[in-house]
Amino acid sequence: MEGLKVTDVHVHIQPFEMVKPEAMEVLKLGKRDYEFITELRKSPSKFIELLDREGVWRVCLINYVAKEVLGFTEEVNAFSAEYASEYPDRLLPFGGVDPRSTDVEQRMEELVSKYEVRGIKIHPPHQLFFPNSYVTEGLRGLEVVYSMAEDNGLPVMIHTGTSIFPGARVRFGNPLSLDDVALDFPKLKIIMAHGGRPFWTEEAFFLLRRHQNLYFDVSSIPPKRLLHYFPRLEEVAHKTLFGSDWPGPMVPGIKHNLDDFLALPLSNDAKRAILETNSRRLFS
Ligand SMILES: [Zn+2]
Repeated sequence: MEGLKVTDVHVHIQPFEMVKPEAMEVLKLGKRDYEFITELRKSPSKFIELLDREGVWRVCLINYVAKEVLGFTEEVNAFSAEYASEYPDRLLPFGGVDPRSTDVEQRMEELVSKYEVRGIKIHPPHQLFFPNSYVTEGLRGLEVVYSMAEDNGLPVMIHTGTSIFPGARVRFGNPLSLDDVALDFPKLKIIMAHGGRPFWTEEAFFLLRRHQNLYFDVSSIPPKRLLHYFPRLEEVAHKTLFGSDWPGPMVPGIKHNLDDFLALPLSNDAKRAILETNSRRLFS
C-alpha cells in the first residue's frame, strides 16, 4: 500500500479542561501517556509531528456540545477552529450546537462562516435526544442543523452505539433513527460513527446498504474485531471511513489501529477506499 494518504476521520483533540471530573476518569482509562495527550492538546505543531511519525496525512478534530453529560459548551467550536487554523489541509475542525437552544440558526451560521468547520458532530447519548427527534418530538432545532449542513455541503457525523461515560444514555445510540434523517435530507452526507457497535451493527449495515447518503466510520471498533462485527465489510467499503477515536477510552493509538487495519484480509481496493479515497470525496 505505497503512497497512501491516510485520513483519520475521528480524533478527539478537545478542550479537556472543560470535562467534568467523573468523565475525566473514563477518558483516562487504559492511558499511561495522559501527560503527553494534554501537551498535544495545547500544541497543534506537536500533534502534526505525531501524525508525521504515524504516517497519517490528516484528521478530523471531533468536537461537539454536550453540556449535561461531559461539560462541553459551544466554546468547543472556537477551540476546534483555532487549533486547526495553522494546518487547514491536515486538521479538519468539527463543531457542534445544542439543537434545543433558541438561536440554532445563528449558531449554525457561525459554524459555517466564522469557524469554517468541515463537519458537524452530534452525539445523541451525550446530548440526550434521538437523531430523529425533529420527527418524533418536534425538536425543530435539529431540523435546522440538518438542513443548513445539507445546504452548505457539510457532513454531519452522528455517534451510534454505546457510551461508557457517566450519565450517557445508551438508548439514544440506536442507529435506526438515522433512517429518517437519511430519507428527509437526501443530499446530507451523514457519517454514522462506530457503526452501532457493539450490538446494533446489523441495523447499521442495513442502513448503509439502503441509503446512498450514509457513510460509516470504523472508529472505536478494535480493527482486529472489525470483520467480526461487519463480515460483509467489503460490500460497503465504498462508504466506509477509517477512524480511530483516539484518545478516547481504551483506544491504544492511531498508528496502532492503522497497522491492525492494514493487516486485515480485505482487498487492497477496499483498504485504499477506506483509508483515503472515500474521505477525499467527503472533504475534497
Ligand atoms: Zn468519538
